[in-house]
Parts: sequence; C-alpha cells; structure tokens
Amino acid sequence: MDINEKVIIVTGGASGIGRAMCRRFAELGAKVIVSDVDGGGAEAVAKETSGRWLRADVAVEADVRALTQFAVSTFGQVDIFCSNAGISVDGGEQASDADWKRIMDINVMAHIYASRAVLPSMLKRGEGYLLNTVSAAGLLSQIGSAPYSVTKHAALAFAEWLSITYGGQGIRVSALCPQGVRTNMLKEAERGAGAFLLEGALEPEDVAKMVEQGIRDERFLILPHPEVAEYFRRKANDYDRWIRGMRRLQAKVAGVE
Ligand code: NAD
Repeated sequence: MDINEKVIIVTGGASGIGRAMCRRFAELGAKVIVSDVDGGGAEAVAKETSGRWLRADVAVEADVRALTQFAVSTFGQVDIFCSNAGISVDGGEQASDADWKRIMDINVMAHIYASRAVLPSMLKRGEGYLLNTVSAAGLLSQIGSAPYSVTKHAALAFAEWLSITYGGQGIRVSALCPQGVRTNMLKEAERGAGAFLLEGALEPEDVAKMVEQGIRDERFLILPHPEVAEYFRRKANDYDRWIRGMRRLQAKVAGVE
C-alpha cells in the first residue's frame, strides 16, 4: 500500500518505535493521528508532524473506539491502524495476576479492539491495513519474561489469523517483529534480563523505514533484524535443539555459566 495521503493511526505514538513511525509517515505525506496513554507526549509528536492527536488507553475498548471515531470524523476514514503500544513485565508464572492481566490487555486485547473498531468499514471498502507491533519474542521467546513471551505469541497468532481470514477481502496485515530497538522499553530491559538485546539493537528510525517498506510490499512479517528469520527456521527444524540453545542463553543471562 502506498503511504502518501493515507490516514494512519499510531498507538504508543508518543515515544520509541511509534514516534519514529509517526515522523516517517508524516514525511511521506500521510495524515497521522498520534495516540498514546501519555496525552502530552502524543500532543508533542502531533505538533512536530502536523498531525492530530488523542489520548487513548489501548487496554480500554471504549478508548480505541473513540480514537477510530475521532480519525473518521477528522479525515473521513482510517486506512492504516498501527497497533503499536506495548509494555514489558519481568518474571514468570509467579508474576502477579494484576501484571498478567495488564500485559494481556495492552499486548493482546488492544489488537483485538483495534480490529473490531476498523474492520467493519475497511471490509465495506474492500481495503485497509492493520500493522501490529509484535516482537521477535512472538516468534522465539523472551529470556526472563513469560508474560512478554506469551502475549507476543498471542499477538502474532491474532495477526496471522486476521491475515488468513480477511486477506481475500482486501485487508492487509503486517506483524512487526524486531529484536532490540533503542527505546525507553529497552532502557528498562537493560536493568533486567534484557541487557543482551543491546547488542545489535537498532534505532527506532531504522525500524520505521523498514515498516514503510513492509507496508509498500504488503509483507506479513516485517523483520528489522534479518537473523530472526534464521532463528525461527532453526526453531522449526529442531525444536528441542533450539530449546537447548535458549537454555544456554538463559544461563548466560542469569550469570550461571
Ligand atoms: P516505548 O516505551 O518507547 O513506547 C511505548 C509507548 O506505548 C509509550 O509511549 C507508552 O506511553 C505507550 N503505552 C504504554 N501503555 C499504553 C496503553 N495502555 N495505551 C496507550 N499507550 C500505551 O517502547 P517501544 O520500544 O517503542 O515499544 C513499542 C512496541 O514495540 C511495543 O509493542 C513493544 O513491545 C515493541 N517492541 C519493542 C522492542 C524494543 O526493543 N524496544 C522490541 C520488540 C518489540
């Protein structure tokens, strides 16, 4: 899909990957609606990109619906919905129920709310694009975080299902699956189990350019780190061997090797 003149919503647009996407889309002539739970941050990005903004908590379906209605009343329709906001929570099965529920709402339900909000009108037009920010953790795993691994797998499964189900009706879906990207999220991860992701980390601006190309090519899987495709192949080829390799990485990260 060509990006020029398109109406694009970006959630989590106040910082990191979302902000870089807003800037890139604006440079390419899109009408951008910047959204974030951080309303001040969204407003600042909208100002610099000559876009519009609306505060929305993607964990709340009414907010996502209101965001879509705002885009429609401002620009007439939504061409591309970038469901990008996400959080990370450290820990395993013992992470609190509150943390598990919060990350499920933000990393999974938000994509479902977005598709419920925009798909009816996109299907009527026979055209529309859903870009869901997942993570390489959705294809592989995240050392030190079961909630992140589980929710990103679920997010990828949902994106995949959407593409299978609605692709024949003109709906395009992409799953953006980067490894480390230099954003606030990575800064937080640096303090915990995610420090190893710094090696090979990309700038959000580089990721935004790859998103642009992925949308132009209407590619399902957008992999800013191409080596992830090889890791994914190895996982499919020999799951047990791949798990043994991941255990070694886990031990290294935990400092027991
Ligand atoms: P970031 O922390 O810089 O940006 C995330 C933004 O989402 C923030 O502006 C935050 O306010 C917003 N947000 C959080 N909860 C929200 C909510 N409930 N409603 C609306 N907005 C909310 O981090 P980022 O790295 O730019 O993350 C963007 C996406 O990229 C996430 O989905 C993340 O999982 C994914 N990702 C990041 C990395 C990485 O290394 N940085 C790697 C793979 C995937």
